[in-house]
Amino acid sequence: MNIRCAVLIIGLSLLVAAPSPAVTDLDFTLHKSSGNPGGKTLLVIGGIQGDEPGGFNAASLLVTRYRIGRGNVWVVPNLNFPSIINSSRGVYGDLNRKFAHLPIDDPEFAAIQKIKAIITDPRVDAVLNLHDGSGFYRPRHIDDQRNPERWGQSIVIDQDALEKVPFGDLAAMARRAASRVNRSLCHPNDVYHVHNTRTREGDLEMAKTLTYYAIGQGKPAFGLEASKNFNTPTRVYYHLQLIEAYMEMMGIDFDRGAPLTPDRIKAMIEEDAQLAFFDNRLFLDVAKARNNLRFVPFRKGSDIQYISSNPILAVVAAGDGYRIYHGNRRLTSIHPQFFDFDTSMETIAMTIDGDAKNVAFGDMVSVGRWFRVDPNPDCRVNVIGFKSSGGGDEAGLRLVRNDFMRRFSVDRKGYKYRVEVYRKHKFAGMILVDFSRGASSRLLLAAYPRSMPHTAAIPLSEASPPDAGR
Ligand SMILES: [Zn+2]
Repeated sequence: MNIRCAVLIIGLSLLVAAPSPAVTDLDFTLHKSSGNPGGKTLLVIGGIQGDEPGGFNAASLLVTRYRIGRGNVWVVPNLNFPSIINSSRGVYGDLNRKFAHLPIDDPEFAAIQKIKAIITDPRVDAVLNLHDGSGFYRPRHIDDQRNPERWGQSIVIDQDALEKVPFGDLAAMARRAASRVNRSLCHPNDVYHVHNTRTREGDLEMAKTLTYYAIGQGKPAFGLEASKNFNTPTRVYYHLQLIEAYMEMMGIDFDRGAPLTPDRIKAMIEEDAQLAFFDNRLFLDVAKARNNLRFVPFRKGSDIQYISSNPILAVVAAGDGYRIYHGNRRLTSIHPQFFDFDTSMETIAMTIDGDAKNVAFGDMVSVGRWFRVDPNPDCRVNVIGFKSSGGGDEAGLRLVRNDFMRRFSVDRKGYKYRVEVYRKHKFAGMILVDFSRGASSRLLLAAYPRSMPHTAAIPLSEASPPDAGR
């Protein structure tokens, strides 16, 4: 499939990683960040259980917000993507109990084989599996929330050591990671402990887990648990602190650009949600979108092709429309109107605050006061939400924000509007105009292609099983 990778954008710059093939449906994805290929490689896995948003949001931010200078970080941020969308522990049962024996007809058999192959890749030196666990693990009983049966705020190892393997002193590695994060606690009660499950000595449940499988393959592996008693940004804060501790122990250099705080993490999670559809003919910033976006032009008879600004953003068919999820947060619903596409044009001439520009379809343009789409005899321009619209061609009009009905904006605050261009009766492309004066500008590190059959639906499960450990 021809994904045109150069998305964007005036006010936004999008550096695109090496183009990778589109992923269908909700398969998990592997993202490799490399500095020096000769360095050590850390594999980080998020989203093995979909009701643990601290883990998969941390893994997603590790992909989008960290630059790796030396060494390698491989991230699977969305291992159980259907369960993430559903906010359930597992749509087909608990994926973290499928690493010992699994019948070949299990719906997740192929996914398990694929993640096992990544774990056992000879280049992988250590594995972190991210979880959100209940309460606070304590070696001795203190109270209902703080006792040995709880999992939150712990680093889980299956045994003390793996012989003759770099980073095989699991207990020492875990203790060092805990002592690093314990210097950066939000509150003294958040303190991390190391929890050795002594899996080989007969813990049948833990013997079915990803980390115990990795240990059996000679790979040092750690389960990182943040407490479910915290909000998601705080869980992410602790996960990223621990991941950084492991990167430091393994000699992996990283740059995240700014200090790590729960507030900043909250903003990063909420801001980063952009989608470009159909070879970038239309672009939507859905970070703070209205609940419903109506009459969005989608391609008739086509799979839904899109690239997203982060790897836990997904488009899911639901009824006669599509829901957009960021992890397990539903951001908006798209109610499409299907058109044939005209692909003969790539740009449209506009005048923005007095400056003439050729604007590529799929761009978001920042408008200070006014804009105009220059008339073109071959096209009809439809400015969505224009108050005085007569249904005809709206090229040539000088438009300011007050010319728009706010309820037609893409965003809830009434800054971002769709400008759609049609040729004959075919859809040629869309521009997003943004009156928020640059508030949307930022740097995205990569873009993630996906496609899905336009009728596909994921199994929706309502209830999560009771709160089980890791
Ligand atoms: Zn878990």
